[in-house]
Amino acid sequence: MEKRIAIIGGGIVGATAAYYLSTLPGSEQTKVTLFDDGTGQATTAAAGIISPWLSKRRNQRWYRLAKAGADLFPELIHDAQLGTDVYQQTGTIVTREVPTDLETLFDLAQERRHDAATMGTVTTLNAAEVQAKVPLLSRAQPGVFITGGARVDGAALVSGLLAKATQKNLTIRRERVSLDAQGQVLTSLGARQFDRVIIAAGAWLKELVAPLGINAAVRPQKGQLIELAVKDYPLNENMPVVMPEGERDFVPFGHGKLIVGATHEDDGKFNLAADPAVTADLLGSAQRLMADVTADNITGVRVGTRAYTADFAPFFGPIPDQEKFLVASGLGSSGLTTGPQVGRLLAGSALYGGTPDWSEYELPLTTYLTSSAE
Ligand SMILES: Cc1cc2nc3c(=O)[nH]c(=O)nc-3n(C[C@H](O)[C@H](O)[C@H](O)COP(=O)(O)OP(=O)(O)OC[C@H]3O[C@@H](n4cnc5c(N)ncnc54)[C@H](O)[C@@H]3O)c2cc1C
Repeated sequence: MEKRIAIIGGGIVGATAAYYLSTLPGSEQTKVTLFDDGTGQATTAAAGIISPWLSKRRNQRWYRLAKAGADLFPELIHDAQLGTDVYQQTGTIVTREVPTDLETLFDLAQERRHDAATMGTVTTLNAAEVQAKVPLLSRAQPGVFITGGARVDGAALVSGLLAKATQKNLTIRRERVSLDAQGQVLTSLGARQFDRVIIAAGAWLKELVAPLGINAAVRPQKGQLIELAVKDYPLNENMPVVMPEGERDFVPFGHGKLIVGATHEDDGKFNLAADPAVTADLLGSAQRLMADVTADNITGVRVGTRAYTADFAPFFGPIPDQEKFLVASGLGSSGLTTGPQVGRLLAGSALYGGTPDWSEYELPLTTYLTSSAE
């Protein structure tokens, strides 16, 4: 019998889940409907750095998940036949001013490289070598260069994955929906029942699961970044991403497009307005790396809403005692990296059922989801 699956939310988690639900064995007997109106989507706003290996975070579950996500990217991009405009391993350079800090970072990179093939090779570069790799910079610092680090265009990734899935079993509905206490999806065309519902609604999870009697401990955070039109280096379309110490990230996207960001504004919550003072501050960050850039170079400001949990860790899986519903949220500032792995796992669980053991990646869901009756 045909299985009907709904996905609420079409960011990186929902789009990757939709893609795998159209390709995994068993998908032939599945009909998938994705609901998303795109408001505030973090994925479309994101800068797009995939380079989790030198993170200072001590949470090993998060690291395993982020590493698995970074490993999955090349395979996903290949299988979905997406191009270098979507994802490219340009390499990432993490800079440090103090020589001993640079050595410590290099040692960590060497240690992590042993079980992280996607990292590629690791070298230290002096300031002149960094400058040569990223000619846009006018003030370079020495850094650790990781060849497997990548940049991804979140919006292009989502639209590429969804386009593939719609060729098979996916229908997309551009609308905001809600759930009722019976677990029906309330759409503009009326209430609809599904066999499984994947709620990949990012920062909006809390309001969606409230009618199910669930309290989700997730909070929103506003993030802004600026897009700049800068000198085009036709022979250097794959400039590495630069992650400077104590500064905003510097993400050259080729064809003269540069992204600088991002902010982390807890007070901003769901506010999607671009703030001129923040734009000026982000421009200041850009100017500290690239002296000749001015406000005239700014071509756009992107604003998105990240979802955070109290321990900054993502969570995902079937809701305990309500397994028809699968959730994902709390992907925070690294959701482009972890998102594809989360979406793939959720797709498998929605198709095949069972009780997945994902304890290598996350704490039990009851850490983040509680009954609102309690
Ligand atoms: C400025 C910025 C820069 C970032 N940079 C990076 C980076 O460099 N590297 C990295 O790894 N991560 C980065 N991130 C984090 C990453 O973008 C997010 O963690 C990730 O995209 C979250 O994906 P998601 O699918 O969980 O949620 P989202 O992408 O937010 O998608 C959720 C979707 O659900 C929809 N939705 C919600 N409720 C409903 C409803 N009731 N009905 C219909 N649709 C609904 C929303 O409109 C949205 O489209 C950045 C984030 C921001 C904001």
